[in-house]
Amino acid sequence: MARTSDFALTNAPWMLLAGVAGLVMLAASSGGGAGVNVHDITGESALIKYGKKAGRLEGTVKRDWRPPIPWVNLTGIVIHNTGTATAGEGAHKKFTYHIVVPLDGRVVLIHPLNTYLASSDGFNSYTIAISVVGKYGDGHDMPPAQAEGLRRAIAYAKAVAEANGSDIQHLWTHRQGELGKGADPGRAPYQVAVAQARALGMSHDPDATIDDGRSIPDKWS
Ligand SMILES: [Zn+2]
Repeated sequence: MARTSDFALTNAPWMLLAGVAGLVMLAASSGGGAGVNVHDITGESALIKYGKKAGRLEGTVKRDWRPPIPWVNLTGIVIHNTGTATAGEGAHKKFTYHIVVPLDGRVVLIHPLNTYLASSDGFNSYTIAISVVGKYGDGHDMPPAQAEGLRRAIAYAKAVAEANGSDIQHLWTHRQGELGKGADPGRAPYQVAVAQARALGMSHDPDATIDDGRSIPDKWS
C-alpha cells in the first residue's frame, strides 16, 4: 500500500548526517517550511518486481537488470518529462524513473534512488532520474504546484543520496544524452530544474553532451 511520509522524519541516514541545520537549509531551498513530503511507492512498481532470490528483479526490465548502483558512483540528476498529458495514481507504477512529479506537485518515489534503471540512456549508471508528468512544448509553462514539486524532488534526491555517500554535483537533461530525446524535458521543466540545482550548489553545463545527445537550445534559456 502506498504511503506518504515526511522524509525528514523517516529517513534515518539523512537525519543522522544532516542534523537540524541541514533540515532547515533543505526546507528553505525547496521553498517551503514543511520539508519534502514523499509519496513512497517503492516496491509496487509494475516494471520491477523482486523475485524469490534476494536482490533479483524480474519484469519488463529484466533484460536490463543490473545490481544497485554504488552510492559513491552517483554524481548527478537527469531531468525528464513523461511525454504523457496526465498520469493517474496507478500509472506511476509503470514509469521507469526514480521519482515522478505529477501535475499536483507530489513527489512520488517509485524506485530506490540507487536502483539501476533503463531511463536515461548513457547516464543510467551514475544518475538519478526525475521526471515531470506532461508533454512540455517550448511554449508551455508548468503549473506552479508541479514546479514546486520538481524543486522539492531535486532537493530530496540530492539530500538522500548524499546522506548515503554520494556527491550529487551535476544536473543533466535527457536531451543531452540521446538524439531522440530532443524535447525532453522541454523549456519550462528545464528552467525550473536548473535554477533549483544551482541554488543547491550543483553545476549545469548547457553545452555538455554525451553519446549522440545535443546541447541545450537557446530557446530553453
Ligand atoms: Zn527522458
